[in-house]
Amino acid sequence: VLSGTILPFDEARILADMYKVCEYQINLFGGVAPYQNYTFILNLSGEILTGLEHRNSTLLMAPAHSLPNLNRSNNEDYIKLMGLISHEFFHTWNVKRIKPQAFTPYNVAEENYTKLLWWFEGVTSYYDDLVLYRTGIIDQAQYLNIIVENLNNVYKFAGVTQQSVANSSLTSWVKYYRQDENSPNSIVSYYVKGSLVALCLDLLLRSKSQFSLDSVMLHLFKLWQVNPIGVAENEFPALIQAATGVDLAEFIQKATETTEMLPYVELLAQFGLDLTTRLAKNHQDSGKFNLSTASAVPLALGDLGAKLEKQALGYVVKNVYADTPAERAGLAANDLIIALNQVKLTNLEKQLGFIQNGESIELTLFRQERLLTLNIELSSCAVKIFELALNDAKLLSNWL
Ligand SMILES: [Zn+2]
Repeated sequence: VLSGTILPFDEARILADMYKVCEYQINLFGGVAPYQNYTFILNLSGEILTGLEHRNSTLLMAPAHSLPNLNRSNNEDYIKLMGLISHEFFHTWNVKRIKPQAFTPYNVAEENYTKLLWWFEGVTSYYDDLVLYRTGIIDQAQYLNIIVENLNNVYKFAGVTQQSVANSSLTSWVKYYRQDENSPNSIVSYYVKGSLVALCLDLLLRSKSQFSLDSVMLHLFKLWQVNPIGVAENEFPALIQAATGVDLAEFIQKATETTEMLPYVELLAQFGLDLTTRLAKNHQDSGKFNLSTASAVPLALGDLGAKLEKQALGYVVKNVYADTPAERAGLAANDLIIALNQVKLTNLEKQLGFIQNGESIELTLFRQERLLTLNIELSSCAVKIFELALNDAKLLSNWL
């Protein structure tokens, strides 16, 4: 069901792709869909891509330009929409049927607390793109690019060192769904980091047994069919062991209850992929997947350490990242920067390109009604980001 602004689009393409995704997921969970009918309701309006899962339907919102156009020139937007469709459909099993005991039944009169959203959103986020790869909607390089992007979107911000995914899940009512300017420095997404925990679980199972996360999903769904009592807060290690014989209790405790680094480098190496780090160009840098291990040396641009948004006049500060020149100089969220070194600020990146590392710049800005100047000593970005490269295609075939 479509509503909103419906531009002319490639209906045959999206229907064929949706058919592949649904068929694949139904087979993953045993081959029989757990509903009579399923309805996708897609509202095309605004700029936000989001969805909400129900037992037999999903309500999706996407920008009007997300539908595949007939020229195939908006593939990136369309792939994001297909990722969302795949995500919400996967919830048909993972959270609408297999679900936390804390949601069984839902108490709609108050908040329902669980630490397990890293599983229910994280595993779902891991499978949404993986299913696009397994059904041929995206290729291997596109899929591995998504993995690198996810790693960098988590690890280049300080929040991942401040909060575990279990805590992020438990406090989602007051933190994740009520984000403020400081959120990148203080919280972690149980969606994205949860998907990385799921990646590790899948690779660990594949390296230690003939099973994978697929086997666990099918096992969980079969248990639900027999007795839908929900998953207790500390039950996943035992459930995974029952499905695969592999004891991952220690790993799960570390991955979900602490902020310790996970063994991505070692695990990806076992599947023929080199995960390396380099200094980021700036906080917008997100790394990429390379077909060979030689990667380009990035420019050493001076980095402010803030997320800025262009306005009719100047740039407004959205976030100031921890331990950066912007933070040390006292730049604040909502400051409106109008000049750099007494020149009207029209193109931040190009104007910063004329400044050397270690040089000071003078920013003229409005903080509420007051006009201020701030001196900031620029330094190159201290953030490390990941790059992924293919080393051994044969080993990779044990996963992808
Ligand atoms: Zn979800």
